[in-house]
Amino acid sequence: MGRILEGDPMEGEKSWENILRPQSFSDFPGQDEVKDKLKIFVGAAKGRGESLDHTLLSGPPGLGKTTLAKIIANEMNVDFKATSAPAIDKKGDLAAILTSLKPHSVLFIDEIHRLSRQVEEYLYTAMEDFYIDIVTGDGLGARSMKFQLAPFTLVGATTRAGLLNAPFRDRFGIVERLNFYDKGSLQQILERDAKLLNIAIQPEGAEEIARRSRGTPRVAIRLLKRVRDFAQVQGNGSITKDLANSALNKLGVDRFGLDPMDRRILQLIHDKYAGGPVGVDTIAAALSEERDTIEEVYEPFLLQEGFLQKTQRGRMITEFAKNQVFETPLNN
Ligand code: ADP
Repeated sequence: MGRILEGDPMEGEKSWENILRPQSFSDFPGQDEVKDKLKIFVGAAKGRGESLDHTLLSGPPGLGKTTLAKIIANEMNVDFKATSAPAIDKKGDLAAILTSLKPHSVLFIDEIHRLSRQVEEYLYTAMEDFYIDIVTGDGLGARSMKFQLAPFTLVGATTRAGLLNAPFRDRFGIVERLNFYDKGSLQQILERDAKLLNIAIQPEGAEEIARRSRGTPRVAIRLLKRVRDFAQVQGNGSITKDLANSALNKLGVDRFGLDPMDRRILQLIHDKYAGGPVGVDTIAAALSEERDTIEEVYEPFLLQEGFLQKTQRGRMITEFAKNQVFETPLNN
């Protein structure tokens, strides 16, 4: 049977996650456009006593897709069940999950672009008309029967919306993309999280971490934890701007928020391929990293911040990257 995770599907460090994960829209800084629309859709569905339309959330990892799915369930006052596509191997796994849902539940499927074609197509009738075909018996005695499901909301999360087949994508009534956070929103998140965790932080310290967090709350939270260690051992416990600055330098996070892997990617293209173009498979092989990880985790930020450029013949580093990353010391 598919693995059904109650509540929090993220791996490791559960207690931090549970304390910090915002529970309502008002607790969730940033992503204002997406949030404002979702608030309206949730309010309207609630007013009609219906389930929310199926919702697809896309965007790089760590931006809050899982968190928003949980918030939708909280705000709708309904059950939340979470799983991820790799855990749903067969149609039977999906059937077991779907038939166990309470009316109007939110079913969250992470990495939804990884569903097999067979499982994906099995979802179609469930999404459209809330029924699935269940086959009983086998061979000549096999019979298919319609099983009526309780109405539910599928919330799918994906780092690669482009990989979803059009017929699947079209079955989501709400499709939203999350973007990288601005510094102000990340600072707000860090100050909120520091308070929840009893970490003393000055606004300038939070700003410094926010500036260097790749626009990503998950990264910001990870850096907050590490910088706190420096504050505890090398400082007086409080995170000041200077302390954050020196701790982040020691952690290998530069003034642009680029981490060592980001820089290895840029360095490889710069040093070995004269700035590019070079194919993503070549980059992945040279750095012993999965192609998907390069495309889903690293590239989006490098592209958005103007360090990297995609061309038909491959990836190139930009003039900006050449001037900024290679011509000036890392931590300036
Ligand atoms: P995703 O599902 O997009 O990979 P998550 O929802 O798991 O991302 O979020 C990653 C981490 O960042 C979690 O610890 C979550 O609590 C935190 N987080 C994400 N977005 C926000 C936000 N807007 N405000 C506060 N914390 C956030």
